[in-house]
Amino acid sequence: MEEQNLNYAIATLGSHSALQILKGAKDEGFKTIAICEKGRDRPYRMFGVADEIITVNRFSDLPEKVNELRDKKAIIVPHGTFTGVMSQEEIEKLNLLYFGNRKILKWEYNRQMQREWLKKAGLILPKIFAQPEDIDSPVIIKFFGAKGGKGFFLAKNADEFHEKMGKKQGNPYIIQEYIIGAPIYIHYFYSPINGEIEIMSFDKRYESNVDSIGRIAAKDQLDLGLETSYNITGNVPLVVRESLLPEIIEMGEAVVKASRKLEKHGLIGPFSLETIITPELKFFVFEISARIVAGTNFFINCSPYSDLKYGHPMSTGRRIAREIKLAIQNNQLDRVLV
Ligand code: AMP
Repeated sequence: MEEQNLNYAIATLGSHSALQILKGAKDEGFKTIAICEKGRDRPYRMFGVADEIITVNRFSDLPEKVNELRDKKAIIVPHGTFTGVMSQEEIEKLNLLYFGNRKILKWEYNRQMQREWLKKAGLILPKIFAQPEDIDSPVIIKFFGAKGGKGFFLAKNADEFHEKMGKKQGNPYIIQEYIIGAPIYIHYFYSPINGEIEIMSFDKRYESNVDSIGRIAAKDQLDLGLETSYNITGNVPLVVRESLLPEIIEMGEAVVKASRKLEKHGLIGPFSLETIITPELKFFVFEISARIVAGTNFFINCSPYSDLKYGHPMSTGRRIAREIKLAIQNNQLDRVLV
């Protein structure tokens, strides 16, 4: 069977969670390809995860490499950088073997559709305020397409909103209820081959500057006139209170079930729910990612949960390769490459 795997290569863009994806693919016996931007290939050489490196000037030039990748029977694994540089239409048109369901991505790209999906799954979402004058509780203002939360700000009423919006005027945004609680990002994997959902791991974010403001006295924070920013710089691993697990499993299952009503085949493989849990232990879900998230990178060997399930190293990246391998063995590749 290993020989059969070697007919395919697993490829991904050199960024985000590529080290994990490629390492996992190698562990499952696949050839691996890192598609790197010129001058940014050093991590993939240094850590020896790529059998081959294909260089592009910019990631968005990927379509130029389609024939070469098809010749190598490459299966492309999407991640956050991939969905960031390619539009949903480009991904749907991309003439490459693709892990997951590319049709489901439009439900992630569009914030309105994302809410529809999560509501269909029966999850609790933060309220959205249509206009600043409606603000009657703390809110977070999020700009569309802002990479990793850059420029997001908080307000507690319309006056504060207008004052802080200042020169950011003109950029599309949403006003969302700010939930006071603990952020927990849940990493799931759904296997269409065995019809089961798995909890892979959990993380919380490490964001600049919001995660360092608490190191400065409140008086200094005010004197310095600091503005918070949520620019992601890394991820911190978590285990959750064990009694929360039954609800977490049900939330993941509900998301998968709802996804099948939205698109044929529904969600395939890794996905993540970004949640805030309140002191009353109520989960508010504010975002879904329908692909591997970078918070899984800490668990490149395994997480406590994947250790419990597999008893040998199993990252989300490796789980993707394992699913492809299972699909090949069962002659069901069409169920995971949609
Ligand atoms: P995002 O880019 O949407 O993942 O959000 C960036 C940061 O804002 C993260 O630290 C989140 O924990 C936080 N955040 C986003 N939405 C909310 C919300 N509705 N309530 C509280 N915190 C939030």
